[in-house]
Amino acid sequence: MEIKYCWRCRMDVPMLDKKEGEIASNLLAEGFQEAKKMMKNPISENFRKLLDYYKDVTGFEETNPNAIMHHFIDLYGPDCENCGKPYRTKAATYCPKCGNKRKL
Ligand SMILES: [Zn+2]
Ligand SMILES: [Zn+2]
Repeated sequence: MEIKYCWRCRMDVPMLDKKEGEIASNLLAEGFQEAKKMMKNPISENFRKLLDYYKDVTGFEETNPNAIMHHFIDLYGPDCENCGKPYRTKAATYCPKCGNKRKL
């Protein structure tokens, strides 16, 4: 886990590393399976395991499974050399935050 700036949330959030992201993906898939089986359950109950896992790893009580799914370090590029915010994608050529051109 690492605290990184999220472009969607516009704030620093705990992001999951590759291994943690894999576990979270599996828990998310499980949540969807359960949601299909038990239509009556509120969504948050189906994803309880995922939300608990995220809390264990990050200490952050997230209530929206969708938010966790874009908080994977792997989705983003490396940190900007100038301002330290992660590039929005691995292929990004400049930093929208400070305008720094990435040295590729
Ligand atoms: Zn976010
Ligand atoms: Zn920057």
